[in-house]
Amino acid sequence: MLFLKNLFKKKTSNLSRRFAIPVLCYHSSHIWGTAYSQNNSVAMEEDLRYLLEAGYRLLSPLSLALALRQENDALLTGKLVCITFDDGMTYDYFDQEHFNAGFVKSFHTVLSQSPLHKTVVGNTPASVGFMIVSPAARHIIDQACLLGGNYLSDSWWRECAQKGIIGIGNHSWDHTHELLETVCQAENIKGSFLSINTYTDADQQIRAAQDHLDAVTGGCATPLFAYPYGHASDYLVNEYFPNYEREHRQLAAFGTGGEPVTQSSNLWALPRYVCGQHWRSPDDFRKLFSDLGDRS
Ligand SMILES: [Zn+2]
Repeated sequence: MLFLKNLFKKKTSNLSRRFAIPVLCYHSSHIWGTAYSQNNSVAMEEDLRYLLEAGYRLLSPLSLALALRQENDALLTGKLVCITFDDGMTYDYFDQEHFNAGFVKSFHTVLSQSPLHKTVVGNTPASVGFMIVSPAARHIIDQACLLGGNYLSDSWWRECAQKGIIGIGNHSWDHTHELLETVCQAENIKGSFLSINTYTDADQQIRAAQDHLDAVTGGCATPLFAYPYGHASDYLVNEYFPNYEREHRQLAAFGTGGEPVTQSSNLWALPRYVCGQHWRSPDDFRKLFSDLGDRS
């Protein structure tokens, strides 16, 4: 009898935990023209218009993480969407002239101007940008890929973190970026974050990065992590993140799984959809959301 009772209880609780929340990811490095497919700022502006028309509200990624940790399903009901940004170029925050695309509105401006940002469910910030933290790594990447224009400066992180539109999150110490001579990985393996599979490497790439982010933002960083390249190693997902929370201080970690966050998602590998990879046009975007509607 007791067994049956427990079974029923579990079933009820599973039934009540039904949600499918898309987490979107944009890159301000993906700007080389003015068309939707060539410019993530243009794409996001268009996508936000659709989301508003379709009756979606923004869910703060921080609140998503907290609700998943606390099994607070009440917060996760309704038409919700989360927005994130990767790699932290200055186009995230500053409106700027682009050598190829002309005047570009920053993600911060696009989001601030959209009525959608007034619909935020849960805590601020309304969205999160994930930064490559190491100053030396950013300098080298900027020189090698971005014409040395200081496009990976951290001058805006603290101010941005305090405004509540884009939080400043952790995208690792050096992204194990291929252009760096040395990366924080024991065998100096570059171009893959799957190679971060020991405590020592994880401590450098994640905990030390968080210490620096906290210092630069005056303690206003958002405690969320996004895996470089979307690479979530078994060690990080199943050992480091769940077992060393006091050290790394993250509340959740995001990959790029191309599906919505549901009750069965792993807190340490939450899936996201990436603009340019999982959708490339307004039609793709609408289809993605109509398919989600069919699931719920
Ligand atoms: Zn990245």
